[in-house]
Amino acid sequence: MTAQILDGKHVAELTEAELAQRVEALKERSGGRTPVLATILVGDDPASATYVKMKGNACRRVGMESVAIELPASTKTNDLLREIEQLNANPDVHGILLQHPVPSQIDERACFDMIALEKDVDGVTCLGFGRMAMGEPAYGCATPQGIMRLLAHYNIELEGRHAVVVGRSPILGKPMAMMMLAANATVTICHSRTRDLETLVRQADVIVGAVGRPEFIRADWIKDGAVVVDAGYHPGGVGDIELAPLADRVSAMTPVPGGVGPMTINTLIQQTVQSGERALA
Ligand code: NAP
Repeated sequence: MTAQILDGKHVAELTEAELAQRVEALKERSGGRTPVLATILVGDDPASATYVKMKGNACRRVGMESVAIELPASTKTNDLLREIEQLNANPDVHGILLQHPVPSQIDERACFDMIALEKDVDGVTCLGFGRMAMGEPAYGCATPQGIMRLLAHYNIELEGRHAVVVGRSPILGKPMAMMMLAANATVTICHSRTRDLETLVRQADVIVGAVGRPEFIRADWIKDGAVVVDAGYHPGGVGDIELAPLADRVSAMTPVPGGVGPMTINTLIQQTVQSGERALA
């Protein structure tokens, strides 16, 4: 069996072409206005700066504007809360991205939750998570929502299948599990206190690696014919799953890089366009 490659770069490019048309149509309807994404970067972590830059570039590729707010590493929670309040109140801003992680003195959860629901295009608020988990409308958290879109593009069926999600972070594992549950998968969530992870992974029809440790999930734990989704990305171009030996054994797999990563940014942009359309149309 040769694995189908779940090509996130390709799907993101296809979606960008469609989004560019939607932005153009919105501009015509609204006297030249476009959706606007405000990005907030706190501190000088180079990886975070790169991610924010990539998000701004993606906005430009589809004809949208972005506003980049950069705050010093010494920023306090209250300063950041005030900044977010101003963006909430600004009618020219349709989406707010607070780049994770923020410096440790900041209460990140409080700042995420300050983002107004209708501008939470990265899907990071408790309110958005709760609504999504209850099947109510809300923007999905960008990485897991991007994974769901990628699986849907390739017609990967989740109903009745056993999905094993390794990781339970607020921005990845937890919302991933809720989205797969909503798609009628039977979901197991694993974490650092899980006993006998290997046995659970062996049962997975669909395995999602969201651990943050290079090639932590070994290829020989994964059964033949499984669907393999790797959210990780580490120096050397490896993910959280040992992918190389799986290429002729599983039914479908995300490449690293070029699988989940492009879909994350693409989902953020898509949800900002939706928010812009709601506000401007
Ligand atoms: P995180 O916040 O560090 O969470 C890691 C999760 O893995 C935690 O839930 C942790 O369990 C679990 N874990 C750690 N060690 C484990 C072990 N030995 N056995 C089982 N579970 C274990 O990381 P994250 O932000 O969710 O990111 C996960 C991965 O996705 C990283 O590789 C990151 O780079 C990648 N990522 C990619 C994108 C993208 O756009 N492509 C976006 C975000 C993240 P506990 O909860 O018990 O500590």
